[in-house]
Amino acid sequence: MAVPNIPLPYGKKYHIFMSFCSEDQEIALSLIEILENHYQLKCLNHIRDFVPGVPSVENILNGIENSMKIVYLISKKFKDSYLCSTEILYGIKASHDQCENSTIPVLLEKTKMPRELETINYVNATITGTDIASKIYDACLFGASDSSILPNFIPFQDLYNGQPLRVIESRKHWELGLPYITFVENTKERHNISNHSKSRKIDSLCDNILQELNSSDYKKWYPLYDCGFLCLLWFLFTCGFIAFCLCPFLLYLIIEAEISQSQMAAACSTAVIIPFVIASMIFCFCSCRYTTVWIDTLVKENNEIFSIVWKNLKENYIEHNILPLLSTNEKIVLLNYDTDPCKQFIIYVLKRKFDDMESIKKMADDLILEFIRENRTKLVDWTLLEDFKYNRHNTYLQKKCICQHLEPHIM
Ligand SMILES: [Zn+2]
Repeated sequence: MAVPNIPLPYGKKYHIFMSFCSEDQEIALSLIEILENHYQLKCLNHIRDFVPGVPSVENILNGIENSMKIVYLISKKFKDSYLCSTEILYGIKASHDQCENSTIPVLLEKTKMPRELETINYVNATITGTDIASKIYDACLFGASDSSILPNFIPFQDLYNGQPLRVIESRKHWELGLPYITFVENTKERHNISNHSKSRKIDSLCDNILQELNSSDYKKWYPLYDCGFLCLLWFLFTCGFIAFCLCPFLLYLIIEAEISQSQMAAACSTAVIIPFVIASMIFCFCSCRYTTVWIDTLVKENNEIFSIVWKNLKENYIEHNILPLLSTNEKIVLLNYDTDPCKQFIIYVLKRKFDDMESIKKMADDLILEFIRENRTKLVDWTLLEDFKYNRHNTYLQKKCICQHLEPHIM
C-alpha cells in the first residue's frame, strides 16, 4: 500500500539522520533502504552522504541541522562509540532549538537507554515482529505522540504573520445637524515594508477598500446607523409632538376662555413643564431599555461594511497573503498572513481521516476561512490571541497561528 509522502519542512534536506555504530551497519542499511524506497523518506547515511575531507563533527552538525528527525539505533556498541554519543548530544540540542522533540531512539537489543534519551518514547525493536520502518515513518508523520503531527517551522521572515500593515479608520463629523462618516487610512499606523511590489499591492488593496467603503450605502445613509443622531431625532420628535398637541389647547384657551395673563402663564408653564418632564422620563426609560438595544442591533446588522471587507479578504488572502479584517469599532486592519503553511498542516491532519485530496484541500480552505470569519475581532486585536511556547508559523508576537487554534478541533 502506498503511503502519503512527507514533504520536507522548510530549510531541511533530509527526513532522517540515521545515527548508528559500525557494528550495526547491516541493520541500518537495510532500514535505510526500506525507509527510502517504501516510505520515500530521504535518509542521511553517514557512510554514503558525509562530505569527504570535512571534520566528522562538522559533518554531524550539518547533517543534524539539515534533518527533520534523528533516528538512533541503540545497542551496547552504540553506547560505547564516541561519535554516536556526540550525535546524541547534538540531536538533543537540535530538539531544544526547535522546541519540539526531533529524536527517535530505536532499541536494537536489551540494554539500558542512554541517559539523555531516557525520557523519550522509543521504538522497541527487541520485541519480535516490530515493524521498525513503519514506526519511524509514523513518528515522522505524527511527531512525538500519536495525537500530534510534526508541523513545519517557518523561520523568521521580514514580515510576521498577523502583523498589521495598514489601518483604515472611520472619521465622523457633523454638518448642518446631520452626522457624516468618511473612511480614511490612518497613515501613522502604516507599516512600510521593503518589498516594493508587495507594498504596491497592499496600497492598491487599501485604496480599493477605501473606495468601496466611501461609495457604499452605509456611508450614504449613515444618519440611519448613527446612534447619537437617532436619539436626537427622537428627542426632537417627542418635544415637537408635545408642542404640536399643546398649541390648539392654548389657542382654545385664548379664544374661548376669558383668562388673565397670570393664569395663562401658569397654564402654559404647567402644560409645558409637566408633559416635558413626563416625556423626558419616558424617553430616558425607553432609550436606556430599548433604544440602545434597537440601534445597536441595527448597526451590528449592517452587513455592508463587513461584506465589502470580507469580499476583499476572500479575493486576496491566498494570492497576496493579506487579511483585511473589520473590528467592532469600524476599524479595518490589513494584516500580513501567509495561510499556506497552516493549510498544509491541516491537509496532513485531514489525510488521516479522508482520502479524496480535492475535498481535503477544500475542507482546509473552508476551515481557515471559517476560523478567520468567526475570530475576526480577535485577529484584528492581535494581542488578545493566545501565546505559544514556540513560533510555529512565524506569527507576530509569538501568538498561536491559525492551524494551532484549529488543531484540537480537527485531530
Ligand atoms: Zn499554522
